Amino acid sequence: MSSLAKNYNRKKIAFTKGKGSFLYSINGKKYLDFVQGIAVNSLGHANPYLIKALTNQAKKVWHVSNAFQIPEGERLAKRLTQKTFADYVIFQNSGTEATEAAIKVARRYFYSIGQPKKNRILCVKNSFHGRTIAAIYASGNKKMTEGFGPKVDGFDHFTFGDHKGLKKAITNKTAAIMVETIMGEGGIKVIPDWCLKGLRKICNQKKILLILDEVQCGIGRSGNFFAFEKSKVKPDIVPIAKGIGGGFPIGAVLMNKKTASGIVPGVHGSTFGGNPNACSVALAVMDQIFKKGFLTNVKKISKYFHYELNKIRNEYPHIIKEVRGVGLLIGLQLFKDQTNFIQKLMDNKLLTIRAAENVIRILPPLNVKKKEIDLSIKIIRKVCKEYK
Ligand SMILES: *Cc1c(COP(=O)(O)O)cnc(C)c1O
Repeated sequence: MSSLAKNYNRKKIAFTKGKGSFLYSINGKKYLDFVQGIAVNSLGHANPYLIKALTNQAKKVWHVSNAFQIPEGERLAKRLTQKTFADYVIFQNSGTEATEAAIKVARRYFYSIGQPKKNRILCVKNSFHGRTIAAIYASGNKKMTEGFGPKVDGFDHFTFGDHKGLKKAITNKTAAIMVETIMGEGGIKVIPDWCLKGLRKICNQKKILLILDEVQCGIGRSGNFFAFEKSKVKPDIVPIAKGIGGGFPIGAVLMNKKTASGIVPGVHGSTFGGNPNACSVALAVMDQIFKKGFLTNVKKISKYFHYELNKIRNEYPHIIKEVRGVGLLIGLQLFKDQTNFIQKLMDNKLLTIRAAENVIRILPPLNVKKKEIDLSIKIIRKVCKEYK
């Protein structure tokens, strides 16, 4: 019997080996892994370049307190700011810590300019920003907050797509709007570019900050380094995690110069945040993602994938309602509960994972090969054919 507490309903399968897009189970079966730790292994399993980065670093320095200089963290922060809107970075260890840090940066900014009462964060109802006490109340999802009272104050909500409701919910106490550029757990719901532009405009008009949670959709998954880049919108604060470590735990909050002005020694910290091993692996991930042609290829191959998935949708319009998403952040929305379908895919050696709204999430590594996509298409078509 497992000594792990029962907070997960785990599938009865474990793996001994991973390589690229594939996982090998204890009982010798080979699976095409289109979960990749939920958009975490951006370069697949056991990537040789990442292994080298980790083992090289592990032989030098494992951990140093943030009381000292950490050159690997300096380098990663420099790279992140050179490649994005950001001027400054704080390292964390996970996505929820990154979103919490984003909230703290926003509040601290208004505090530092003498407006401490401007401290409320406006979020989308049933979004996902992580599992800490503050993040569950930010997410505004009853299933996540149930039993964890008292309620954490400081968060207001509007419904996805409800522009009037959004405008009405902004008060003179609103410090920031925080949304996922593409809702991941919520069912791969994309905020269109014109809405991102609208959000930026409202934030400018009301003098509030725009936080775009790119923990799941960022780090190349959309075909751009950040999913918001396509819209040309510049956010103020962006939490990241998942894909940046390529499988090694690391999170970070990126911010522009203005919002960083509230961050002075002592206001925030983390024992493990900026760990040399984590930063070295993340630097290696950045090396690969910014290699010439890498993101162009993500765009190209994902276009092919979406096209093939839409072909299946057209063949089985009574099973698949919609193909959602951008780049390699893909959702297959079914008409019915998706549990059974996911199991059938797994029986056929394709691993996928659920999201809200009957969605099956498909998250290949960003360096996925065309023939692996073709294999997944074959399996999905087969399951559709046999599905009742
Ligand atoms: C996964 C996720 C988080 C939480 O990340 P953890 O590493 O699980 O804490 C936060 N925001 C979004 C959008 C996510 O997808």
